[in-house]
Amino acid sequence: MTGPGTPEKDFPQPIQPPPLAVANENDYGQISGSAPMFSYSPANFDNRTMQQLPVSTISPSTPLMSVAQHDGRSRFCEHCQRIKPDRAHHCRECDSCTLKMDQSSDVRLTIFNHSIRIGGCVGHGNYKFFFLFVLYTSLYSLWVFGTTLPTIIIAVLQKGNPVDVQWIVCVVLAFLWGFLLLAFSCIHGYYILTNSTTIESISDRPYFIRIDYDRSGHNYQLVSTDIGIKLWSLGMVANWRSVMGNNPFAWFFPIRNVLGNGFTYPFDPHVYQNMVERAAQQSRMSTTQSQLPNDSSIPTSKSPPADSNNFPMNQRNGSASELLV
Ligand SMILES: [Zn+2]
Ligand SMILES: [Zn+2]
Repeated sequence: MTGPGTPEKDFPQPIQPPPLAVANENDYGQISGSAPMFSYSPANFDNRTMQQLPVSTISPSTPLMSVAQHDGRSRFCEHCQRIKPDRAHHCRECDSCTLKMDQSSDVRLTIFNHSIRIGGCVGHGNYKFFFLFVLYTSLYSLWVFGTTLPTIIIAVLQKGNPVDVQWIVCVVLAFLWGFLLLAFSCIHGYYILTNSTTIESISDRPYFIRIDYDRSGHNYQLVSTDIGIKLWSLGMVANWRSVMGNNPFAWFFPIRNVLGNGFTYPFDPHVYQNMVERAAQQSRMSTTQSQLPNDSSIPTSKSPPADSNNFPMNQRNGSASELLV
């Protein structure tokens, strides 16, 4: 028999982005002179394994797409000194970045001062474990409630058979925990089926999408999305598989079989196509305006600054943008 262990240590930990392999100006130059480190192209992605295929050094046959900052630069964490892949966020509680971060470490559910807490972030590497933990806890609580309540009712109806107050407390707590966690499970089931996260679902800002037409890092357009758009939804089955794995027999067991490495996620094909078309339209508008005589009454299209490919080491992120950009 092994001991129960400490949940905060035994709970599978999320995966962090790799540290930047940069230490001098030459390395900075290599990064600044190429396309974003983490970007998605349908031509270089295997949707079955959710893995990026070996990156070719030649120009991609389809544009590369990634989430960027408002000025076109890669998302960057000043605290960790890491480039943040799409869907990664910095957690102040853990003082580190987490891939596909769902929520911060202080996961607490409190009822009348009774609370459970899951230490560590919930993200790409442990979302399945978190979901199963909440789901099974809710089902167990409901099972306790459903099997205990009839016994108590029968005991109460039988005169001269006093009921231990501990049974009353047990059935009340089982009722509260069961339905609260069941609601929590349903919410996260919805997130899994729509390929979303808690952070993304509460975001009220548009994404800035960078479309790179080659790997030079200089030939790209920056477009913004509508608010509330789900960028990474591939359909319910594919969304479920991406978190729970390809093997149905392992879906409901605590086996780590999440697909992909968490650095690159395939975009919704419709969103991808829409963004590429929007970028092309924006590019045509820029070209048209550059050919017109200088007229201040004509609105200019949004384009990244000339130095937008500089390595973002010197950029300053606001506290708000740090979480959701
Ligand atoms: Zn954390
Ligand atoms: Zn960070």
